[in-house]
Amino acid sequence: MEKELVCINCPLGCRLKVRVEGEEAKEITGNLCKRGIEYAKQESILPMRVLTANMKAADCERPFSVVSSKPLPKNMLIECAMELKKHSPKTPIKMGDVVIENILNTGCDIIATSNLPEESL
Ligand code: SF4
Repeated sequence: MEKELVCINCPLGCRLKVRVEGEEAKEITGNLCKRGIEYAKQESILPMRVLTANMKAADCERPFSVVSSKPLPKNMLIECAMELKKHSPKTPIKMGDVVIENILNTGCDIIATSNLPEESL
């Protein structure tokens, strides 16, 4: 099977062609540098994405923003986003706080990217 991708590692956006056999990227063309090869291998076999979302605290109406500590498998993003809804930490929440450790055993933490001062409903 042949896949076409656009490398997102730099603004040049090389158009990559990848020949995939089973679970292996066999032939990669269109890249202007080595980073394109690594990107094509990862993206064609197991695409990864950073999760960004908003969460609700237990004791505050306003949401706060979160990000995953590293990219997650793209096919787990919806499941992880649903998991966020099951958690509602208490305020205060500070930027950089780990609000969920090792979400769904991915080895990835969910980290607050905004502050939410202590507040009661
Ligand atoms: S292959 Fe290299 S030059 Fe091309 S977009 Fe990717 S990082 Fe940039």
